[in-house]
Parts: sequence; structure tokens; C-alpha cells
Amino acid sequence: MGDGRIGKVALGTAVVTGASAGIGKIYADRLAKRGYDLLLVARRAELLDELAKSLEADHGVSVRTSAADLSSPKALEDLAQAIAHDDSVSMLVNNAGTSTLGALASTGPADVSAMTDLNISALARLTLAVLPRFKARNRGTIINIGSVLGFHTLPISSAYSGTKGYVLNFTRGLQDELAGSEVKVQLVLPAATATDIWEISGVPLSALDPASIMAPEDMVDAALAGLDQGETITLPSVENIKLFEAYDAARMELLLASQTGKPASRYVST
Ligand code: NAP
Repeated sequence: MGDGRIGKVALGTAVVTGASAGIGKIYADRLAKRGYDLLLVARRAELLDELAKSLEADHGVSVRTSAADLSSPKALEDLAQAIAHDDSVSMLVNNAGTSTLGALASTGPADVSAMTDLNISALARLTLAVLPRFKARNRGTIINIGSVLGFHTLPISSAYSGTKGYVLNFTRGLQDELAGSEVKVQLVLPAATATDIWEISGVPLSALDPASIMAPEDMVDAALAGLDQGETITLPSVENIKLFEAYDAARMELLLASQTGKPASRYVST
């Protein structure tokens, strides 16, 4: 077991939620490779323990695990308290997420609650847990995994897109709050990525155009490259980033155009 140092620089501990599978498992591997100690979180303890052992052996870092259902308020609060008081924590990867796709009328309320509890409440609570210390030290990194479905919704993704819209706005507001500080906040917006989430959502990966699906390794490597380049918003699969710049400029123009204090003329009878 190593001490999480590259040369003499201690990188500290990265907390990765949803590390037992998919994108989170790759983040755990890549961050261990970079020299971070890890705290891996998910429900399946045996998968986390297996991963922890292999990462310790491969990369010589220290890996702890916490088996927790983050949609449970008690388990979430316990983890939040633990990481709030853990001085070694220098990075939080809010990755754990779930998805149920389908017409809302036939979606169970419990499935919608599970998505909002995990995708929204857990992400926000864990962010609040690390933020005071990161701000006080003027360093630390928060990576929030949103989705391209945070700025678009499909007839089958209203609830999921709603949760990812929250991630997008929550993260962008936080970035503005922290502007000028050394606390980094990255919003990652993946498109379709080959993980179990698709089976879990009710739409198998086989239903998608294979050309639109990215390997999770590519997704995470691109997102970390974006982080290294100082990006605050990373769209790993978008080649022409000017599209996002135009979208964002239109968003700001629309916002400014709303600040008139009076009804638009089309709503005023003459
Ligand atoms: P995944 O393969 O299904 O992995 C989800 C991870 O979250 C697993 O480690 C799972 O572990 C954990 N998790 C699920 N429910 C949990 C709970 N209640 N408490 C704690 N951990 C829980 O999905 P993924 O594709 O890697 O998703 C990772 C993130 O990427 C999500 O936020 C997702 O919305 C986002 N995303 C994915 C795609 C895509 O196409 N795959 C696209 C855009 C965004 P346990 O089952 O062991 O708890």
C-alpha cells in the first residue's frame, strides 16, 4: 500500500461515487494511476473491495471503500459527514447515477424518486460536504458527471433529463461562485457511453446506433484531458466545440433579453 504521492507531492484522496462499475470504475483506475489515494463508494461492497485490491497492487496507492446506498438519506449523511471531516480529501467525483427511461405515465414514482435522490440529492449533499474545506484551503477539485441529456430531453427521458439539468445548473452556478479561486469544478457532459446504465434504464445498448456509443475508457480519458486543459465544461464526444460556444452565447443573449420588466408586445392587446 503506497502513500498516494508522486515524487514528494501528496495528491490526497479522491472520493469516487459509483466506482463499482462503468464510468466510475474507470475514474478510479485513472486517478489511482495518477497517484491519488481513493475512497470508492457504491452499494456492491464485494466489487469495491475487489477493485480496491487490484488498484492498490497495480498503482501502490491506498484505497478505502464505503458500501453505501446514496439514495438513503442516512447513508448519504454518514458519508457526507465522513468526507467533510477527512482532511485528506482533495477531489470529489460525483459520478454515481441511475436512469429509468420510458413514458412518465408508466414510470413508477419510486423509480423517479431513486433518480432524484441519487442524481440530484447525493451530488448536492456531497458537494456541500467538501466545499467549506476546499474553499478554506483555496484548493480542491469537484467533478460532476452530468449528461448531454441535461440540455435536451426526449419523450422517454423527462425525469432523467430533469436530474441532469439540475446537475448542469448547480455546477455552473458553483463555478461562478468559485470564479477566481483555486477550487476547480468541472462539469462533464457525456453522450451515450457503453455501461450497464442502459440495461438498468430499460433501453438496452443494442437499441442505440453503435456509432454513437463511446467506450467508458475513452470518455474518462477525454474528460481528464479536459480537466488538465483547464476546461470547466467538457463534452467528450463533441468535435466542434464552437457549437457549444454558440449555444452558450444564445443562452446568455436570451437571458439578457428577458430583463425588460414588461410584457412582450405580442402579449399586449392594442
Ligand atoms: P453504471 O455503469 O450503471 O454505474 C453506476 C454506478 O453508480 C455503479 O457503480 C453503481 O454501483 C452506482 N450506484 C447506482 N445506484 C447507487 C446508489 N443508490 N448508491 C450508490 N451508488 C449507486 O452507469 P454509468 O454509465 O457508469 O454512470 C455513471 C454516471 O454517468 C451517471 O451519473 C450517469 O448518469 C452518467 N452518464 C452516463 C452515460 C452513459 O451513456 N453511460 C451518459 C451520460 C451520463 P452499485 O450498483 O454497486 O451501487
